[in-house]
Amino acid sequence: EQSQARPTVIWLHFQECTGCTESLLRATHPAVETLILDLISLDYSETLMAAAGHQAEQALHESLEKNKGQFILVVEGSVPMRDGGIYCKIGRKTPQQLLHEIAPHAAAAVAIGSCASWGGVQSAAPNPTEAVGLQEALTREGIVKADGTVLPVINLPGCPASPYNLLSTVLYYLTLKKLPEVDAKGRPTFAYGRLIHDNCERRPHFDAARFAEQFGDEGHRQGWCLYKLGCKGPETYANCPAIEFGDVGANTWPVGIGHPCFGCAEQGVGFHKALHEQS
Ligand code: SF4
Ligand code: SF4
Repeated sequence: EQSQARPTVIWLHFQECTGCTESLLRATHPAVETLILDLISLDYSETLMAAAGHQAEQALHESLEKNKGQFILVVEGSVPMRDGGIYCKIGRKTPQQLLHEIAPHAAAAVAIGSCASWGGVQSAAPNPTEAVGLQEALTREGIVKADGTVLPVINLPGCPASPYNLLSTVLYYLTLKKLPEVDAKGRPTFAYGRLIHDNCERRPHFDAARFAEQFGDEGHRQGWCLYKLGCKGPETYANCPAIEFGDVGANTWPVGIGHPCFGCAEQGVGFHKALHEQS
């Protein structure tokens, strides 16, 4: 029966803007409806499920009972560690409580977006809620699988994360029954194995020292390299130049449309670095 073949996904939202889900909604190959109706069984997602309130919580508990040790847990958003996590509550529970309840029974977890990967915008100095990413929260809370083994966490940073990196991770798991290879930061190497700068269509301009100096100047109009406008492509590992972003036409990724990469997918680079350097 098809429904038995579809892996269950439980998707939790913590401190975030829902941009990662919004981005997934705009994916077209496959479209999100194919993903959630044919390929996976999305049993719980506060944004996408039809149920609300007690009905939604009931769906979560029924799914947990039925799929112990077998479902994929997707987390969107950071976990507030200060004061027991009271700054984010869902169904009267803090993210820590939900993770203690749900994570030990997952087969694997996916942290979607920079918030869930390493804290994101909410962790900006002075980080009032002590926001951290999923892996850090699991480590600090001592949460492991029910059988005592470590819960594997795949990080898919990006703000928002590219929906195709989530789709590819889920489809990889579906097809090969294992998780993709990851780098030292827990990111799949198929998506985060190469520098933006090494794949960028403006690289010949960089190599020939042809730079845009200001937005709207002649170099900018000619499509020259954006390094002098602050491009973080030389420090950021992600596949944006290869798969682009947004599905609305050719060259639809930041550098392709004339904006420097600001390193949203990289820890400690660009805007994340700036956020943490504030006093
Ligand atoms: Fe929103 Fe960015 Fe966080 Fe995704 S990573 S939920 S887009 S703030
Ligand atoms: Fe590198 Fe950015 Fe220039 Fe592209 S635009 S070549 S990523 S510095």
